[in-house]
Amino acid sequence: MAGKFGKCMMLCCSGKVSKEEDMANDSYEEAVAGLSKLLSEKAELGGVAAGKIKQLTAELEAACSHGCNPYDRIKSGFIHFKTEKFEKDPTLYGALAKGQSPKFMVFACSDSRVCPSHILNFQPGEAFMVRNIANMVPPYDKTKYSGAGAAIEYAVLHLKVEHIVVIGHSCCGGIKGLMSIPDDGTTASEFIENWVQIGSTARTIVKKGCSDLSFEEQCLTCEKEAVNVSLGNLLTYPFVREGLLKKTLSVKGAHYDFVKGSFELWDLDFKVTTCVVA
Ligand SMILES: [Zn+2]
Repeated sequence: MAGKFGKCMMLCCSGKVSKEEDMANDSYEEAVAGLSKLLSEKAELGGVAAGKIKQLTAELEAACSHGCNPYDRIKSGFIHFKTEKFEKDPTLYGALAKGQSPKFMVFACSDSRVCPSHILNFQPGEAFMVRNIANMVPPYDKTKYSGAGAAIEYAVLHLKVEHIVVIGHSCCGGIKGLMSIPDDGTTASEFIENWVQIGSTARTIVKKGCSDLSFEEQCLTCEKEAVNVSLGNLLTYPFVREGLLKKTLSVKGAHYDFVKGSFELWDLDFKVTTCVVA
């Protein structure tokens, strides 16, 4: 929905009919300029365009599961946090105002159902987090994966976290996407498949070793195997290797199953998948 809305805005404001590929090349500055132009011309928009924007806005507001508009939802959420947590624990929030020293670094999926603070009851200041599609830890690469590298470097060298935990989860759409990529490697998405192929080793292991399993069971196995690939990728970062050797750092894998309501945790291990689906 948001993507469609965004493209509509771009078409309306730029006043041109361009191919999707052309729009993908639009610079940030052009997009902002186009949006500003649209807003300044809003009053003069024709009835059709204005009606369409009104309809899209109404759809967005109706999509809010709390039956409110996003401003109200965010405002009420923050007021709840401030009165029930922030103001009730001045010791914690006073300490956090001076700095953070989390013991954990956590990699988790962006999936809205698997928030680590929620499922593991992490309090503010306890866990330094990276969330992305399919909870991938990419290998050390200063050019392709500088975002992940910066987070790991900061967590290990500056915050001196003691544990890095990579948490996979049940029904992961990213892993399903990885397992659904055709063997010839053709991809249909602009970013998603390219990103999840960080876990392609897990896909290969599962496709070869677990061909007797159903696709759903293969995906479940791959969710865990991809975590192991991420644990291996962590070892490509020199400061992670150094922390493990000095025993100032541990690396752990985990899998949260929100269908069963279970959570598995394991240490860095390079055993080949045994295809046990419990
Ligand atoms: Zn996921």
